[in-house]
Amino acid sequence: MAESKTVHSPLLTYFSVLSLLTLCPPFVILLWYTMVHADGSVSQTFDYLKQHGLKGLIDIWPRPTATAWKIIACYSAFEAALQLLLPGKRVEGPLTTMGNRPVYKANGMAAYVVTLVTYLGLWWFGIFNPTVVYDHLGEIFSALIFGSFVFCIFLYIKGHVAPSSTDSGSSGNVIIDFYWGMELYPRIGKHFDIKVFTNCRFGMMSWAVLAVTYCIKQYEVNGRVADSMLVNTVLMLVYVTKFFWWEAGYWSTMDIAHDRAGFYICWGCLVWVPSIYTSPGMYLVNHPVNLGTQLALYILVAGILCIYTNYDCDRQRQEFRRTNGKCLVWGKAPSKIVASYTTTSGETKSSLLLTSGWWGLSRHFHYVPEILSAFFWTVPALFNHFLPFFYVIFLTILLFDRAKRDDDRCRSKYGKYWKLYCEKVPYRIIPGIY
Ligand code: NDP
Repeated sequence: MAESKTVHSPLLTYFSVLSLLTLCPPFVILLWYTMVHADGSVSQTFDYLKQHGLKGLIDIWPRPTATAWKIIACYSAFEAALQLLLPGKRVEGPLTTMGNRPVYKANGMAAYVVTLVTYLGLWWFGIFNPTVVYDHLGEIFSALIFGSFVFCIFLYIKGHVAPSSTDSGSSGNVIIDFYWGMELYPRIGKHFDIKVFTNCRFGMMSWAVLAVTYCIKQYEVNGRVADSMLVNTVLMLVYVTKFFWWEAGYWSTMDIAHDRAGFYICWGCLVWVPSIYTSPGMYLVNHPVNLGTQLALYILVAGILCIYTNYDCDRQRQEFRRTNGKCLVWGKAPSKIVASYTTTSGETKSSLLLTSGWWGLSRHFHYVPEILSAFFWTVPALFNHFLPFFYVIFLTILLFDRAKRDDDRCRSKYGKYWKLYCEKVPYRIIPGIY
């Protein structure tokens, strides 16, 4: 399996699998418990666990209830229906190593607008109160942890018995296949793309839906929304709006074009995104910090600037590739490397590597504004507790690891051309430092 070159060594993979399987589910539950029931205080939860041990953890672990399953089922069915039925432009994904070109329907922005308008409409007209979601959050996360695991087993079996394209295959190792996935773009039928569903329409959409939920919960409890919550919600919504605005571009990034559909990416999108990514907002529900208009505005503007810069980096790379280098980058003709590579089927192809603009500052400069955006939507929580900042720290580790994985993959794909790029643009993420 060609992709196995792009990921970690088998030993590190076993370690990651075991840690993900054993540590992440309890972490999700403990994070939820700490935010919602322990005042956001890690030491309070730690003391509780010290006193009650494993039984204490089992006691606070919510059982997935019928309400939780109903909420997840309605939400998933609604998002799947929007993905299938809403109109959208036909978009071709990047050529895969097996020489296939997946075709998508770009209706993400429409699905996003319909989802938020429906959700707010249900609340406004008294049909469904989003606070129900907040009040059953622990049960929902618990159901997601279990349901997503079963879903990943389904992906593994499908990869073996009914792969959707030739971009699939086994490494010969069950654990690696389950963890890193078998299919690059599994589908149900010809049109329902599973990764678009898990990553975009379930994971990213749940981020926006939960951000709005937290805001409404605070409003219903306190009769008002604190400026800290407003800054947090607006920045998260700007970020997710940017994501759906650019969703077709996302289909040519690592998550979709290189990472196979397995536990690593699918469990992450189905469980980790709704729980961990939204956690600063979860904290703010019970901590209505008042920043004052001026500070709130400074944070808001700084956050929006970072989200815009991150968007502009992605846009620049994609515009450059789309026009085959015949575009302006920061007002000038772009400087570039024409890099050739060989596909798994032995064909020689070429790609352009941009070496000016954002992509001339460092090889993964776009991760800098990504991390700063997360910092700015978390900082309204101020510094009384560490836990709201967990996502920023996690994201920093994730992106530094991702930059390395991507560098390794590109080095093995482009060989001497990647070496040339590294000579021209020597820093990996932070210009002048790393
Ligand atoms: P990208 O897929 O956008 O970029 C890496 C790919 O781009 C490489 O694999 C290579 O692919 C191509 N490439 C590399 N250098 C160049 C160059 N100089 N010129 C042209 N093409 C190049 O990276 P990511 O998927 O990591 O990021 C996409 C977005 O998602 C970013 O905004 C990032 O911040 C965000 N993100 C957010 C995460 C989160 O959890 N919040 C996690 C990960 C990403 P090829 O084989 O085509 O040459």
